[in-house]
Amino acid sequence: MAEESFIVRCDKCGAKNRIPGSRSGDRAVCGKCRAPLHFKAAYPPYAMAVDENSFEREVVGFPGPVLVLFWATWCGHCRTVLPIVDQLATEYSGLVKFVKVDLDRNQALASQYQVQSVPTMLEFKNGRLFNRLLGALPKDQIIHHLRAML
Ligand SMILES: [Zn+2]
Repeated sequence: MAEESFIVRCDKCGAKNRIPGSRSGDRAVCGKCRAPLHFKAAYPPYAMAVDENSFEREVVGFPGPVLVLFWATWCGHCRTVLPIVDQLATEYSGLVKFVKVDLDRNQALASQYQVQSVPTMLEFKNGRLFNRLLGALPKDQIIHHLRAML
């Protein structure tokens, strides 16, 4: 796999900084204004796996739009949607964060957000549920919903 990098938006000047994944534990500063960068505002270039322990931090506490895909290993439509969501995570890096939740391992989250079927996508904006997308939507429709959130 090519080296992963993260887009981190500077809190101070808003510039987007690309940071190699291998350096994500280091201190980094903004290339434009030299302010320290905070990795809690990082956008991974793929759908990051999140569970009941990390959901609060990675989704509800995230200071920007997040698309959450609930999926399951036995779900055929999910196999269609997962690569699309990974592509979108690259294309929208720095704008929308993408995470995925395995339904079977995170039943409490699914019931908390009333996810009754997979695939289901939940859009969060500033920690609040913004929209709920049901089923295996084609890429252009997902993009349409992403734009509504930006
Ligand atoms: Zn800056």
